[in-house]
Amino acid sequence: MSILSSSSFSKENIVRLLQTENENCQMLYEKAAVVKSDVIGDKVFFRGLIEFSNICSKNCYYCGIRRDNPDFTRYNLTDEEIIEAANFAYENNFASIVLQSGELNSVTFSNRIELLLKKIWKLTGGKLRVTLSLGEQNEETYKRWFDAGAHRYLLRIETSNPELYSKLHPNNELHSFKNRIKALNILKNIGFQVGTGVMIGLPFQTIEDLATDLLFMKEFGIDMVGMGPYIEHTNTPLYTANAKIYSPEKRFELGLKMIAVLRLLMPSINIAAATALQAIDKLGREKAIKAGANVIMPNITPGIYRDNYLLYQNKPCTDDSAEDCKNCLEVRVALTDNKIAYGEWGDSLYYKQRNGEINSRQTIC
Ligand code: SAH
Ligand code: SF4
Repeated sequence: MSILSSSSFSKENIVRLLQTENENCQMLYEKAAVVKSDVIGDKVFFRGLIEFSNICSKNCYYCGIRRDNPDFTRYNLTDEEIIEAANFAYENNFASIVLQSGELNSVTFSNRIELLLKKIWKLTGGKLRVTLSLGEQNEETYKRWFDAGAHRYLLRIETSNPELYSKLHPNNELHSFKNRIKALNILKNIGFQVGTGVMIGLPFQTIEDLATDLLFMKEFGIDMVGMGPYIEHTNTPLYTANAKIYSPEKRFELGLKMIAVLRLLMPSINIAAATALQAIDKLGREKAIKAGANVIMPNITPGIYRDNYLLYQNKPCTDDSAEDCKNCLEVRVALTDNKIAYGEWGDSLYYKQRNGEINSRQTIC
């Protein structure tokens, strides 16, 4: 495992790392955990996740809440319910939330989000960092949301291979790979901390594709990453390709290796322990932290709605309350010898570095 002590990683070496097995895997995770601890410390940052609506205008072939799936109930939280969830995060000192939903591109939708952001800002005196994960929008909308107080945006590239992307999405303007890249660039130019990610273990995806995904993140200069295993949903078009995928265990292991290698490639970015990891392995998120992740997203969506935000099946914790979720994660994080950094925004150090704030390690709110 001499590659581990190298400071630059070629695609060939990344592929070799993603193919490591057994005790070499363990060495890779341990090395990534040391790098995380050296650069970020023994901290894990919380992001309270509010999945406020499963209404979506898109038709991604892999996703359970795609527009053309009629077999579940659509919901949309009221503004009051969203504010209440944000307030729970604020009062419990999470310091950060993520607002996520299906993708809508209407003026009504962008106005609603802008207003919500302003209300959250007012309620918390600007002390709650807000990440949005609301898909592709035009530049004006992104700008308005940034000005209204959202400073982070998560938009997964899903795969950096355009050919594979076209197998995962309908072939039209609404699902164009070029537009996804364009949106990421717009977000960066506006000044957002930009997050992306991919699904791991997709049908037709190769280990070389995954290595290229990591190099894409490095080359783009991404600030935060949320990536996890692809998990099949029987009611989606991609399910017909299910014979072509790795076992859940293998997808899980690849997910951990992707996190670990990315931590070596980009020591100062924020990397989330994706919930999808826990759908395969009950200790998935703890294992991700031990492999270099430093962010966890407790689900604080009101419990009655969670069953219907099924991007994939076997989603964990759908019947927990926000309080249960917090308590459970507290125990889980303690098991990794890390501490939850309550009250800290946990901005991406990499973002600060690329903006010239090399000396400020963490902003305490
Ligand atoms: N609509 C927004 C945000 C919600 S979807 C958007 O698409 O950006 C958030 C993420 O869920 C997607 O980016 C995708 O990577 C992930 N996802 C969807 N279906 C999935 C599946 N079957 N398995 C694993 N992840 C999935
Ligand atoms: Fe909609 Fe996002 Fe699912 Fe695509 S991945 S169908 S945009 S919710």
